[in-house]
Amino acid sequence: MHTEICKYCHKKVEIKKDGHKGSMQGHLAKCNEYQKYKNEILTKEYLYNEYIVNRHSAKWISEQTGINTKAIIKKMKFFNIDTRTIKESCNEAERKQRYKETCLKNFGYEHNFCKNTESRKKWEQQLFDDYGITNIFQREDIKFKSHISLFHHKGKTQLRKISKVEKKVLDFLISEGYDVINNKKILCNNKVKYADCVINNKIIEVNGDIYHANPKIYKSNDLIRFWGYNDKAKLLWDKDYQKFKEYKHLGYDVLYVWEKDIKENFDKVKDIIKKFIERGENEGFYNKEYKEN
Ligand SMILES: [Zn+2]
Repeated sequence: MHTEICKYCHKKVEIKKDGHKGSMQGHLAKCNEYQKYKNEILTKEYLYNEYIVNRHSAKWISEQTGINTKAIIKKMKFFNIDTRTIKESCNEAERKQRYKETCLKNFGYEHNFCKNTESRKKWEQQLFDDYGITNIFQREDIKFKSHISLFHHKGKTQLRKISKVEKKVLDFLISEGYDVINNKKILCNNKVKYADCVINNKIIEVNGDIYHANPKIYKSNDLIRFWGYNDKAKLLWDKDYQKFKEYKHLGYDVLYVWEKDIKENFDKVKDIIKKFIERGENEGFYNKEYKEN
């Protein structure tokens, strides 16, 4: 018998046999944090978009979310989303290819959901008729739900939940009427990075005090521990500094705001953000004492 930590509620769970998943599954069935996570991720829009529009399988959604396939299918039935039979799923890849060819032939578009195509308009009309959904990607609540976007961690694709402070900044930017993209994918040296809040060529990174080792709190040799990390503060600054340089190289300007400051004096942070967006005022990399070696 050994213990594992539940990655949702961070409580210790006793596992009866090595590799026996039963106890963790048993725990998850009554874990409030997991249930909350599940309900937050498996929204009607998310499932509809991935399963119906993007034609991904329930297994694929399971891999993305870490939620088992059974639970996903149950949720889809709950939302009245038609689930495909296994045979249909097997034909999916082939069908996708045929679909592409048909679209090219008939419309001259590779993908039939390109904006302003007849098929896209039809699809949007159908979404409205079937689900009462208008303009799915423009809706504010969907934009907020963009915190259910994907990120890559240790070679695995995971869902990234945004932190409370990040949400606060995002809410502020939206309320000010800025056209902000949350979790924007940016390709740096062939690696996908996710920028927190992006307005045109300006990036606002909302840094958690622990995850980025706030230099106002930690010294360079302080040991930082969190999920998947147990090393010096300096290494986190290294990573951020590399990312900073890559963003700059791509023509982005980067402003860093910190959890601590947002919690202690959000008004001041708001002011800094506005000056950055409107006048480009910025101090550059967050750690003034930082030196590369
Ligand atoms: Zn738990």
